[in-house]
This record gives sequence, structure tokens and C-alpha cells, in this order.
Amino acid sequence: MIIVLKSGTSKEQIEKIKHDITDLGYDPKVIEGVERTIIGAVGDELSHQSLETLRGMPEVENVIPIQKRFKLASREYSPHDTVVKIGDWKLGGGNFQTIAGPCSIESEEQMDTVASDLSAAGIRILRGGAFKPRTSPYDFQGLGKKGLDILQNIKDKYNMAIVTEVMGIPEIKDAAMVADMIQIGARNCQNYHLLKEVAQVGRPVLLKRGMATKTEEWLAAAEYLLTNGCDDVVLCERGIRTFETATRNTMDVSGIALARQWSHLPVIADPSHAAGIQHLVLPLSCAAIGAGADGLIIEVHPDPIHALSDAPQQMQSGTFRQTLDQLEPFIKAAGKHMISLNN
Ligand code: PEP
Ligand code: MN
Repeated sequence: MIIVLKSGTSKEQIEKIKHDITDLGYDPKVIEGVERTIIGAVGDELSHQSLETLRGMPEVENVIPIQKRFKLASREYSPHDTVVKIGDWKLGGGNFQTIAGPCSIESEEQMDTVASDLSAAGIRILRGGAFKPRTSPYDFQGLGKKGLDILQNIKDKYNMAIVTEVMGIPEIKDAAMVADMIQIGARNCQNYHLLKEVAQVGRPVLLKRGMATKTEEWLAAAEYLLTNGCDDVVLCERGIRTFETATRNTMDVSGIALARQWSHLPVIADPSHAAGIQHLVLPLSCAAIGAGADGLIIEVHPDPIHALSDAPQQMQSGTFRQTLDQLEPFIKAAGKHMISLNN
């Protein structure tokens, strides 16, 4: 941490602040400039008490942290790309996965058609929500436990790995019975109780970035999973809130690139929720791949117009193979191989 003092701070006051810094577990190094004095506080910011408290002192102009708020998630801690196994399928470290499936599980028939179409297209990891975080309580809320039963049948029939979301602690155990990876949605990115519980269930976790979560906060949320027993975390950029209203959210391409640089964890992008419109899914996917994404999660439905949730952004499952074919050269150019088509 760097503590910048206001000009005119007396020698006695500097001594007092040095003393406080030592008390908080750091070694203070004073640098006297012509105009003002700064103090470098040497020590591990993750294990020592925060020096942010010094902000409250009248002599202190600013407190600037040097370390990030995460450690296990950082590249410094683990320089090589982490590869996460979802069922039998690898994601990360050059293994590019496209996860696909409908926003919500609506019926056995719908899931059967989607799984059949996607299997034929080479997709190995199927998404589908049973517990749905809907903005309005009047909207379709998901089939709940019945949706998980449908997922289990489809999983058995098509031998696909499954990703599904939990919104609350009581749902975790049931979801973990069928899911090969559990999704924490954007609205729960910083629900630390939920993160701590889901980390302990023995499944990889797909952590969506919150719509108002800074990259550092997103990685600090991943740190909750890592420090609570889950090593297999996949980060997912799904668009953040900006002033732009032409798209549902704004896909933060820099967030993808930064997360890849700051962290060893695989980063995927969800262009469906970022765009909110199905015809933007392909260009946003290309942008995400260019920024270094290790995979995509895309919403597809057999009959998008009649989908019970997120209809405008879902792609048609029957023609999805064409989208994958269009993505393949971009994935190759990024130095990765598309697992779903090649294996
Ligand atoms: C979803 O994946 O269906 C979903 C609700 O996503 P998000 O949490 O990103 O809004
Ligand atoms: Mn959705």
C-alpha cells in the first residue's frame, strides 16, 4: 500500500502515522518529496489488516493498494492456464469448448430436440436452467426440481455433460446430482454465502460476472470458491450494464482479456446474455475469441420464437452447426482447438 500524506504534514504527525502502520502489521518506508511525503507500507495486504482505515485520518490524502484482492486466482500464484474438466470434457489451456442449450428447461420434448440437434453438431456440454432468476415474478420461473429430472434423462440418453444454475443454498445438492458444472448467475456473483456453499459440493463452478461487478471483484468472488474447496472455477463474462441500450448488456471484451492476464482460470464468454439479440451472438463470439476466451456459452432453442424465457437471444438449435463452422477459423487463429468438433 502507498499512503500519500497531505502537504504540510508535520514530522510528529508522520511519526504517529508510521507507528499506526507498524501496529497494523506493516513496515513503513518514508519517502520525502519536495511538496509532500508518501509512505510505502511493506507487507502482505491479503493477510494483514487493511490500511484503508488510514483514509479516515485528516493528514492522509490517499491510500493506494498495490496488491489485488485475490491470490489463489492469480497468475502469480499459478502461471499456467488451468484446465477444468466438465464431465469427460476439458476446458481451458487451449481446449476450446462451446457450451450450448436453452435458457430454460421447458419440457422433456424441448430438451430432447435440443440435445439431439446439438449432439449432431458436435456439442458435448449442454446448458439449461431449472431455477431461473427472472427480473419479474410474473415471468416463467423455471420448472425447478422437475427440470432437473428432465436434465437427468437427457444426460443419460445423449451422454452430454450438464451445466445448470443454482440460485439458493437449498438447491445445491439436487443440482449437483445431475450437473457436471454448477452455474452461479450474474445476480449471485457476489452472494458470498452461496459461493462458500457451492464450493463444497465437489463440482466445477461456472462463475458469471455480475452486471455491475468490476473485473477485480469478479476474481475476488472466484477467490471465495477457491478458498472454500473448489479448484475448478470457470469465469464467464456475460455483459455488464452501461449507458448503451441498443443491446441487453455490453460485453466487456477488455474484461475477458484482463481476466485471462490476471488469472490462470479459464474464461468463457456468454454472448447471448451480453447481446440479448441472436444476430449479434456470432460477432460477439468472434470478439471474445479474439480477446482470449477459452470457450463460449450460447443459448439455443428448437423454436426460439416460442421460448418461455430470453426468446430474442436464442439461436435455432437445428442450424447451430453453421455457427460453429463460422467460429472454427477464429478459434484456430487464436491458437486453440474446438473440442466439440474434433473429439
Ligand atoms: C442464464 O444463463 O440463463 C442467466 C440467467 O444468465 P445471467 O446470470 O448471466 O443473467
Ligand atoms: Mn437466459
